[in-house]
Amino acid sequence: MELFFSDKKPVGRSYKEQRLKQKAKVLWMTGLSGSGKTTIGLALEKELYKRGFLVMLLDGDLVRTGINNNLKFSVEDRKENIRRIAEVSKLFVNCGVVTINCFISPTNEIRAMAKNLIGKDDFLEVFISAPIEICETRDVKGLYAKARKGEIPEFTGISSPFDIPPDPDLVLKTDQMSVEESVQCALEFFLPKITLQE
Ligand code: ADP
Repeated sequence: MELFFSDKKPVGRSYKEQRLKQKAKVLWMTGLSGSGKTTIGLALEKELYKRGFLVMLLDGDLVRTGINNNLKFSVEDRKENIRRIAEVSKLFVNCGVVTINCFISPTNEIRAMAKNLIGKDDFLEVFISAPIEICETRDVKGLYAKARKGEIPEFTGISSPFDIPPDPDLVLKTDQMSVEESVQCALEFFLPKITLQE
């Protein structure tokens, strides 16, 4: 491939994608706390790594203890949380890196903002779906128990809304599928989209 570089611009995304032998996309996983976003994200990242892809996994806890450690869970802060994550994802995508984002991202408005910022061609929405009763039984971090006792205000699904995504690119029903089945399904959906055609 012949290289055309501008003195005034960084090396373009397509060159970086060529270097990494992949097409960059954001796989945006939305769902209730405990629905399985992180579990599936972690397993999917490893499967993609084994196949030669460079992936950045962005996860709620990681981001909220780092770049967004000044934000809480009010409507405004949730919006700002997602705005920053979308901007960070865009930086990765422009560097040719695939990102897997695991965030509750509870409302249609918030997800539309993320899609807008990242660009619709690079944004793939995956709804990690499980009824709240199941998520509550799993209660990985004991958050539902605390929320029921009123110790966590504005907890998604209990005292703060979660909009069911009306038109996701993929739905993984984790109350009906094993982790392995979900990962397999995500791979079948995602691999053709991030594979660079020679
Ligand atoms: P989230 O990131 O959506 O808050 P986590 O991945 O942290 O959710 O937690 C989901 C929990 O549910 C994990 O403890 C996981 O082992 C468990 N789990 C049980 N069955 C499934 C399934 N089929 N898919 C995903 N997670 C499952």
